[in-house]
Amino acid sequence: MKKVLILGSTGSIGRQTLDIIERHSDKFRVVGLCCNSNYGLLNEQIKRFAPDCAAIADERFRDRVIASTRIYSGGSGILDMCRACGAEIVVAAMVGLAGLEAVLACIEAGMTIALANKETLVGGGRFVMSEIKRTGCGLYPVDSEHSAIFQCLQNDSNKRAIMRLVLTASGGPFIDYTPEQMEKITVEQALKHPNWSMGSKITIDSATMMNKGLEVIEAHWLFGVPADKIDVAIQRKSIVHSMVEFEDHSLLAQMGLPDMHIPIQYALTYPERIECISPRMDLFELAPIVFEKPDMKRFPALQIAYDALCVQNGKTVVINAANEVAVSAFLDRKISYMDIMRIVEKAYNKMYSIDDSVLENIKALDTDTRDYCAKIIS
Ligand code: MG
Repeated sequence: MKKVLILGSTGSIGRQTLDIIERHSDKFRVVGLCCNSNYGLLNEQIKRFAPDCAAIADERFRDRVIASTRIYSGGSGILDMCRACGAEIVVAAMVGLAGLEAVLACIEAGMTIALANKETLVGGGRFVMSEIKRTGCGLYPVDSEHSAIFQCLQNDSNKRAIMRLVLTASGGPFIDYTPEQMEKITVEQALKHPNWSMGSKITIDSATMMNKGLEVIEAHWLFGVPADKIDVAIQRKSIVHSMVEFEDHSLLAQMGLPDMHIPIQYALTYPERIECISPRMDLFELAPIVFEKPDMKRFPALQIAYDALCVQNGKTVVINAANEVAVSAFLDRKISYMDIMRIVEKAYNKMYSIDDSVLENIKALDTDTRDYCAKIIS
């Protein structure tokens, strides 16, 4: 039985991970659960899965977590749990750069990393990948696009012959909106993704296509491919999850229904494939598969992510932090939808450069960018 730690167990990825574990309870055992503040659901999960330990980031709710398990709380408590829980694999599904240090603690503890938290690589890619290399830990993507590419690269000669990666994108709910319509987008509209059911932060990121921008950066670090060899193609129904084109001009794609159970399970069982609770895809029921070029003017988030990846020097840390603050302010109805990108662009132009191979530099720039954006918003 594989011992599993779930960081972000009450979120969308965490809950779907637990569905898979419940279905394959002969193969996996939950040793640790961790959430931000949703102690009600955490308690239900503790009763259902009886983990050895549990952690809650928000210290105020520590006493609300049922005491049938070892309890940790706060940022440093989460790191302590990562070190002590004895898991073999972690599903890292926290939201935002908050996941970075926990992932590093799990690498240090020798776990295989099933990575759903893209901000970890967007902010700390250079540092994290050098830690992965140093320790020899496995790193398997959970993000559906990166899982698709990972699945297309299952032999070394394929890895040597990559011509380009093609990340697919749904285009989100606003792909056909006019600039005037864009100015009036509400939180409710932005939270309705056409294909995927996900947490609120990533759903907003999908609408702005910042999500795809962050995924381009994530792909760069995961697969060691430069920005000019990573393309984005819109495939509105999210059936083709991504592709790799090789030197011989052959193109491999991975397809499936837009259901995160599949990539989560593949990261958990890799290199094995086992039966999945996701329904099968009926080929004859599919809408035609059409690819479209993304419009960088309509989706400036995608352009700025490419720019940040080309410049580096911490620019990816800046756009990630600014985006987190701006999305959260939009969800709190403090700023408009179009303000999200205005804030990201301001921070991109304003913030200083760093050597992003040093963790302390990343953390300081992240904090300073958040402070700067909070000031603009207020
Ligand atoms: Mg994705």
